[in-house]
Amino acid sequence: MDARDFITANEAEFSQALCDWLSIPSVSADPACHGDVRKSAQWLVDYLKKSGFPVAEIWETDGLPAVYAHWPAADPDAKRVLVYGHHDVQPAALDDGWEYEPFEPHEKDGKIFGRGASDDKGQVLFHALGARAAARAIASAGLAASGESAPPVTLTLLIEGEEESGSPNFAKLLQSRKDQLRPDVIVISDTTMWAADTPSICTGMRGLVDAEISVTGPTRDLHSGSFGGGVPNPAHVLASLLAGLHDENGRVTLPGFYDDVVPLSAAERELLAKLPFDESGWLHDAGDSGAAYGEAGHTTLERIWARPTAEVNGLWGGHTGPGGKTIIPKAAHAKLSFRLVADQDPAKVVSSLEKYLKASTQNGVVVSMTAGTGVRPSRSAIDSPTVEAARRAMERAFGREVLFTKEGGSGPEADLADILGAPLVFVAVGLDADQIHAPNEYVDLSRLLRGAEAVAYLWEELAGTGS
Ligand SMILES: [Zn+2]
Repeated sequence: MDARDFITANEAEFSQALCDWLSIPSVSADPACHGDVRKSAQWLVDYLKKSGFPVAEIWETDGLPAVYAHWPAADPDAKRVLVYGHHDVQPAALDDGWEYEPFEPHEKDGKIFGRGASDDKGQVLFHALGARAAARAIASAGLAASGESAPPVTLTLLIEGEEESGSPNFAKLLQSRKDQLRPDVIVISDTTMWAADTPSICTGMRGLVDAEISVTGPTRDLHSGSFGGGVPNPAHVLASLLAGLHDENGRVTLPGFYDDVVPLSAAERELLAKLPFDESGWLHDAGDSGAAYGEAGHTTLERIWARPTAEVNGLWGGHTGPGGKTIIPKAAHAKLSFRLVADQDPAKVVSSLEKYLKASTQNGVVVSMTAGTGVRPSRSAIDSPTVEAARRAMERAFGREVLFTKEGGSGPEADLADILGAPLVFVAVGLDADQIHAPNEYVDLSRLLRGAEAVAYLWEELAGTGS
């Protein structure tokens, strides 16, 4: 029985199992649901054991538990693959505008409805089915030693319980378990494809760092009639500092800001341009923005996926109430954030911002700054053997050309790559249309089954036994 036949034969069981799991409201953000997050972890342990994983267990953290499962290949030298996903979900309540109870999942017309159907329980569960299918395909081909059933790669699942709460304990968990995990390849199944009829692989996520700056001048607000024109105005200084963050080509002016940016290759740009992108529809989704704008020399998709940014998120100071008040404010403030791309380092960007502020501050005011620690960006090269294997596997499953995307969101991907020291590849079948993080989340069952098939083929491709 080949992988596709096996997956089709198990469709009903898979759908039923997913609905069982989705009925557990594993909302990591809500302390009232933390018991359910534990229940969800235990449910997954039990299910993975039933699916054939010889080891499946709960891994405690300082917060909510992760699930670890391990299924070694028959060959002790086989590639070691780590799959990352999460079993916690975003909050959901009928009052938020759901047309059905978010935690009373059901299947209808080939779709599975319920919180977590796409993000990320559906995408975690297809790995259980894909692993069984890959093991079965080996056994059917007579490749298995002594009739034992095992996948062609040594497969580890690490399924986090706090992703929707910012993964506060995940890096520590990876640090403490890295000698046990030691993967050759990390597969992330927590992203989206371009469209149901345009399968794609995500090849990067932007990172993020934020900062707040304050400009202070006189010890109190001053009468602008008595003092205006004679001392520096903190609001003017702030405005000029913020305006100076970009040049006339929309490029960020911080010293060394682009030094570590890995530019898109010609092949990457060509493939991004192949995505059927409708700019006017996108502008409509962008709050009916009047025009596309950004760094000169780049398309909109390149700007939002592959280029770093500096944004002013808010600014305040002085008199903002009704009527006029003729003052020179004693202080002015702004919140900034930077979207980063590989290989930018949040700490380096913060120190570059500090340098810029120091160099641009005039006499008579004090500029101070605080900054967060940020999230590092991640990237996988489209010409790496791992990404090429994933693309072949997806093409076999979907029967059409697989393109590449990037994503703006930020998860624990950079930590996985850095701490475990292995390349990332994103294999996922979610869609923005799945209403992820929104009311009425659902997923097409057929798409999850293609996901199971894609990973079954990926294990063959990585083992070098792909057909
Ligand atoms: Zn997710």
